[in-house]
Amino acid sequence: MKVAIFSTKAYDRQFLDQANHEGRHELVYFEPRLTAQTAPLAEGYDAVCAFVNDVLDEAALRTLAALGVRQITLRCAGFNNVAMDTANELGLTITRVPAYSPHSVAEHTLALYLALNRKIVQAHNRVREGNFSLEGLLGFDTHGKTIGLIGTGQIGTETARVFKGLGCELIGYDTRENPACLEMGLRYVELNTLFQTADIISLHCPLLPATHHIINAEAIAQMKDGVVILNTSRGGLIDAQAVIAGLKAEKIGLLGLDVYEEEEALFFEDRSASIMKDDVFARLTTFSNVLVTGHQAFFTSDALSKIATTTMDNLDAFAAGGPCANAVAK
Ligand code: NAD
Repeated sequence: MKVAIFSTKAYDRQFLDQANHEGRHELVYFEPRLTAQTAPLAEGYDAVCAFVNDVLDEAALRTLAALGVRQITLRCAGFNNVAMDTANELGLTITRVPAYSPHSVAEHTLALYLALNRKIVQAHNRVREGNFSLEGLLGFDTHGKTIGLIGTGQIGTETARVFKGLGCELIGYDTRENPACLEMGLRYVELNTLFQTADIISLHCPLLPATHHIINAEAIAQMKDGVVILNTSRGGLIDAQAVIAGLKAEKIGLLGLDVYEEEEALFFEDRSASIMKDDVFARLTTFSNVLVTGHQAFFTSDALSKIATTTMDNLDAFAAGGPCANAVAK
């Protein structure tokens, strides 16, 4: 099939070309994000391949369908950026990579947490400047603390395993219980109980209407003083203004973010020479107890390799006319 691949970087090309054995699909790479404005680039293509911040809204989908595109394959697990009602109405097949490496995201969650707690970034900067003072670098033991996981699917489970290894008590909130988590000793609780009990809260549920701003002012008010909040799932799970208020009130002790609600305008590009126009994001990065990475939790060679092979499998399955195991349910 002829496939238009959007939002591509050199690393995408490297892994997708490797996975495209015998050049069975004609892959054409486009750097721009896929939006209603860039969708016309897909003229003459059978399928498009999109990434996490591409905007597959009604207008973009209608343009793609009118151009003859029949499959949209996502190089990510989440599909909150796709207007599924419109996709279904237009008969577009949406496929995704439901599981590539839950370890990559769980391990990045741990990296954010430990760097925050043990002030690794500040310590590194000090030592480079010949400042060996320990003032302000005080952390706390993770052993014996309670971590509350919101969402206990693949990534939540691996994060639970990692924190169990550090000696944490595990509690979780999910719409369904996961036997693997129960086996690890995780105790399912109501959401309010999780907010009130957890020392560390880590988000691993999808962004849905039900989970939008699940961390809001009301939730933060219930949390323990000094709570640690980690979000490596989707930015829209957190009301950033409420979190800023929680940080200013010293209610939130540490905040680790790999995602941000308005990240489309910022992430995945070098913007170091431009003026930061997002005041909320700018404020977040001024706190010494906040660590932000730019949606890189998935970014390991193992994960990119799996994303590329599954993407090729999704294209193969659609081209063969068979059912696509990774199609988003209609
Ligand atoms: P998953 O489908 O295996 O798990 C999601 C869990 O959330 C499921 O157990 C589901 O029951 C639960 N859930 C659904 N609705 C809920 C609700 N209202 N309240 C609480 N829990 C609810 O998905 P996963 O592979 O573990 O991925 C989780 C999320 O991580 C994805 O949706 C995606 O947004 C994010 N993600 C981020 C990165 C990154 O690089 N930062 C990479 C991959 C995935």
